[in-house]
Amino acid sequence: MPSEDLIVVTGAGGFIGGHLVRRLLDEGAAQVRAVDHAPPERWHQRLEGAENVMLDLRLAEACDRALSGASAVYNLAGDMGGMGFIEANKARCMLAVLINTHLLQSALRHGVQRFFFASSACVYAADRQLSANARPLVEADAYPAEPEDGYGWEKLFSERMCRHFSEDFGLATRVARYHNVYGPHITWTGGREKAPAAICRKVAEARLSGKHEIEIWGDGEQTRSFMYVDDCVLGTRKIMESDVGVPLNLGSSEMVTINQLVDMVEAIAAIKLVRRYDLDAPKGVRGRSSDNTMIRERLGWEPSIGLRQGLEHTYRWVYDQVSALAGVG
Ligand code: NAD
Repeated sequence: MPSEDLIVVTGAGGFIGGHLVRRLLDEGAAQVRAVDHAPPERWHQRLEGAENVMLDLRLAEACDRALSGASAVYNLAGDMGGMGFIEANKARCMLAVLINTHLLQSALRHGVQRFFFASSACVYAADRQLSANARPLVEADAYPAEPEDGYGWEKLFSERMCRHFSEDFGLATRVARYHNVYGPHITWTGGREKAPAAICRKVAEARLSGKHEIEIWGDGEQTRSFMYVDDCVLGTRKIMESDVGVPLNLGSSEMVTINQLVDMVEAIAAIKLVRRYDLDAPKGVRGRSSDNTMIRERLGWEPSIGLRQGLEHTYRWVYDQVSALAGVG
């Protein structure tokens, strides 16, 4: 894409969107429009080099304003969070279909050349994720469809709409299925936080309060893989620039149990905590990780930043937020 072209990032006020805007500016993009419906003072990162715009993209006319003059669109906007949030807010999560539908239609009206959609590992069928050592998910495991209720159904539908906008109207679409992203600037409190941020926060709180206990959702033996945000934005750029029009996994293949994740954060914080397990809390699927065969074959690349290394940066950042809130340091 010529560098003088306008690139639009939606959901730019959120965790991954902010990192993506930063990366595009660092790469020398001439014009980046960052769009979010949250007021800019609440954005996770607000970057001076971008045109920062507040719009509610559920509305068609807002999408037209957002995409005016755009040649490339990264659609990362969504009303989502960790398991606690998505299990309790299925309809809210599904309303993101308005954002994706209006953006795709607007992209056609404005002659956008390339459209990226941030999908999720939550599109994968539940029966492939029943045991902690379930085999890593390949792209074909999304069908026959039995995605995560609410949030996952919307992602799968919107992926499919990208495909048909491409086939029927010639819009070049790219789709990544993100698997659990973490890093600095992540949502770490408020009810939408996911496991890595919640665990970093709980360990930091234990360190600061001297109360050496931690509550874990489930029995801690459920498995996941976690991708550091730098790998996520690099992979997003690679997928966007590639010729791959089908959904690709974008995740780490380093699978750990939640107990192992806690072990790592404890080691980083140099602390040992008494674990209390809440077996009634939302847990999500039993076992999930990313099979990266397809992204390796198609892009010659896969996420490679180790969990321990990524958690060091994340824990330090979360610790600073917790201590600032507590008025420490
Ligand atoms: P986030 O919640 O931090 O960011 C999403 C942003 O979208 C928020 O800033 C929110 O204000 C904005 N938004 C919501 N509704 C909007 C609207 N109507 N108009 C304009 N903006 C609106 O989430 P994130 O972690 O940065 O995730 C980015 C994308 O990646 C999302 O689509 C999410 O579903 C997907 N994803 C994330 C993960 C993950 O682990 N973080 C995993 C899989 C998929």
